[in-house]
Order: sequence, then structure tokens, then C-alpha cells
Amino acid sequence: KLRVRYAPSPTGHLHIGNARTALFNYMYARHNKGTFIIRIEDTDQKRNIADGERSQLENLKWLGMDWDEGPDKPGKYGPYRQSERLDIYKPLIQDLLDRGLAYESYKTEEELAQDRERQLENGETPRYEYEFAGLTDEQREAKIAAAKAAGLTPVIRFKVPVGKVYAWDDIVKGNIEIGAEQVGGDWVIQKRDGMPTYNFAVVVDDHMMEISHVLRGDDHISNTPKQMMIYDAFGWDVPRFGHMTLIINTETGKKLSKRDESILQFIEQYHELGYLPEALLNFIVLLGWSPVGEEEIFSLSEFVKMFDEHRLSKSPAKFDAKKLEWVNNQWLKKVSTSEIFPSILHQLVNGGLVTKNELTPEKLTWLYKMTELYKDQMSYTNQINEFSKDVFFDMPVSLDEDSKAEMADKEGVLTVLEAFKAEVLKLEFFVAATIFPAIKAVQKETGIKGRKLFMPIRIAASHEMHGPALPEVLELLGKDKVLTNIEAMIT
Ligand code: GLU
Repeated sequence: KLRVRYAPSPTGHLHIGNARTALFNYMYARHNKGTFIIRIEDTDQKRNIADGERSQLENLKWLGMDWDEGPDKPGKYGPYRQSERLDIYKPLIQDLLDRGLAYESYKTEEELAQDRERQLENGETPRYEYEFAGLTDEQREAKIAAAKAAGLTPVIRFKVPVGKVYAWDDIVKGNIEIGAEQVGGDWVIQKRDGMPTYNFAVVVDDHMMEISHVLRGDDHISNTPKQMMIYDAFGWDVPRFGHMTLIINTETGKKLSKRDESILQFIEQYHELGYLPEALLNFIVLLGWSPVGEEEIFSLSEFVKMFDEHRLSKSPAKFDAKKLEWVNNQWLKKVSTSEIFPSILHQLVNGGLVTKNELTPEKLTWLYKMTELYKDQMSYTNQINEFSKDVFFDMPVSLDEDSKAEMADKEGVLTVLEAFKAEVLKLEFFVAATIFPAIKAVQKETGIKGRKLFMPIRIAASHEMHGPALPEVLELLGKDKVLTNIEAMIT
């Protein structure tokens, strides 16, 4: 039975790359009627942030994922936070010590730094140098006793099996082989603070939680041989590994890194701008995975249905912010206005265009109509502010140069505006359905049509050259304002 996990370290908020790892594991599990587990890898206490776990879980939920076991959903394989599993790791580390597969290491940070410097000077790749090399048992004992007397706390290192080659058939990348000598020498399985390291704890947990497949970012490829050493040491079966390609920022052409400030990378930031969760996850799934065929817009349940791990790409995924905007626009077009209206209100209030206490039922109805006008043009709901501000909230007093040029034919403009004013005055109800025929009547009367007809009306009424359909814009501006603005232009 397929059991997969997403194992975040709560060292930051949910990042696009993490969300992708979570999504692929989620789809893999759901497609195969397997189990999806969340495990919090919080043994690096210095790097944990207070909000990390909450942000990870809440944002996964917001994107539409759920899980079968996790810190908030205890199951029989718990606990699901590594910091609560220390009692499980301790005896296993002791077992490795007892069997001579691991040892206490007293090299200080300064000594390690010196080794490193020397190795770099010699053009070597930095690696841990065995601190007891060439010593007899007695000399070794004496060295340890001296370190203990000096009050040094040891780390525990795993003895790397010399000459062994670690090979696996990677779900994404095919055959990978890494020699034991490439892992940088005997590596630390327990830190000075008594915490196990990631590479040790991850193996114990994946084994104990009966994880069958490990899908993660390819920055972990170099960790895999270390982890295989631990599986071997305990005689445990190795799960299937799959390492997903890195993500490239198309803006910079470089690997996406959390320090890159040229694009937003955290799920919360997109949430705040008014991206739809369906759209964001749609975009993320396409980072390194592709469906069969040309269509790219799918819901999570559709993705689950068609998920196929063989379609995980071997070449780097491209993060293209423009594409994300396009995907979100596609989704805004798909959903109903009422679905996005709460988000629109949030953006308008935050943008300072409306205040909460002016939201009467009439105003809400008006804003709802306005939302319908812009819905299909927006890439994300925050854009309602920039789109609607000049037309409906903060109309510029004078016309810009382009508008003035458009209005250069004074005589024609005057003819249209006079005729339109007369038509408007005749209207009992000032709604798009009556305004449109009124404009048509002006055309008939004056013989002016097309741009020369619409532009003077649009510019006079809204002081803008661009915007949604004219009758709708006029309806929302209201009869009084339209008349005042037109009169101002005529006189
Ligand atoms: N905690 C690790 C990370 O956040 C998990 C890696 C893994 O899936 O093994 O990168």
C-alpha cells in the first residue's frame, strides 16, 4: 500500500517549492488510494520559526489539500513531530554505537574549520578527517578521556562504509549511483545538543511510518546515500526515491532561491494579492509535471485523476510569473462573481477605496456590479484597485494628453455630447439596458459612429480612455455624475 509524506521543516512559511513537493505527494497518494502523511521535521531548533508549522499547514489546506495523518491528525504511527520522537531515536543511536557503526566525535568547531581551510587550500573538497586515525586503542581512549575532562560534548558520527556504492532507480531521474566517499566523510547523526540530524531522523521516521515512496526536491539527492547507509545499518527496506527537478526563475535564469527577491515565493503573499487557491495550485502542478494534451487548466480533483508519476519532468521547471497571472485570470473567468466578491471587498478596503462602514446593501450591490465589469480582465483581485480607482473613486480632474488628442475634433465632440445629454435626460431608468439604445439613438441622429461616437462619451463621463463596456460604466457612474461630467465638457 502506497504511503507518502510531506515533511516540512518549520523554518519558514510555505514556499512555492515546498507546496509543489506537498502537492505531488498528495496527488500520488490520492491517485493510488494511498495514504498522505504530514510530518514536521523540527530538530533544527535554531532555525525553527514560531509560525512555521501553522503557516505550512494552513496554507496547504488553503490550497485544497488534506491529509490522513499529521500533527493535527494523530494516527497509529505518531507522534508526527520529530521533536516529540526523541525517545524513538535515542535507543537506535545507542544501538549503532554498541555495534561499532557509529562513534563519539570530539573534534571542536575550530578544528573542523582548520581542516576545512587546509583542504580548500590544497584544492580538495572539504570532508571530515577521522580524528583517531593511526591511533592505538589506548591512545584513542586517552584522547577521549582528555576531551571529556576538558568538558567537551561529543557529536555522534556514522562510520561511512568505505568503497560502497549506493545506487537506486529514481522515480524521476532513473538510475543514480553515488560512491560512499562522496558524502564528505563520517557524518553526524546526533548533534551536540543531543538532537538527531535530519539524515538520521528522516530514515527512522520513514521506516517506522512505513513510507513506501519518498518524493522530494533534487537538492536532497546528495543526502540519499547517507540515508541508505542508515537503512543498511538497521537492515531495513529502502523506500523508492524520486527527486523532482529544481525550479528556475525565468526572470533571472537562476535556480529559485528563497533569497531571490525578484518574485514572490510564499503562498501567503499570493493569497494576500487575491490569487485563487485553485489557480495557484494549478500553476504549481505544472512546475515539473505536465498533463497529456494541450489543455492546462484543471482542478485538483482532475489532476488527482490523471496523475502519473512518469510524467514528472527530468528537466528544470520554469517559474514564469506571467504564466501564473494568465492561469489565475483563466480561473477568475471560470468562477462566479459571488465566489470572489469577499476577496474583492477585502482588497478595496485594504486599498483604501472603500471603508467598512460605508458598505450598505446599496453600496454592496453597486460594488458587486462593478466587480462583474472587471472580473474577466483581472489577473488577481488586488487589481480591482488599480482598474477601478480613476473611473469610480478618484476621477482625475483634467484629461491626460491622449484623451485631449482624442477630443481634438471639437465640433464632432460637441455634437455627440449635446445629443447624448438630450437622450439621457429622456431616460426614466438609467441602466445599461436603456443606455445602450440611447447611444444608438445618438448615432442615428448625428450620423457619427464607432470610435468618434463612443470615445467622447466615455472620456467626458469617466475621464478615461479605457475601461469595461461603456453602457455598464455609465450605469455605475450614475445619471447625475454622467450629466455633470458631460455638461462640464460642453461648456
Ligand atoms: N525536512 C526536509 C526538507 O524540508 C524534508 C526532506 C525530505 O523529504 O526528506 O527539506
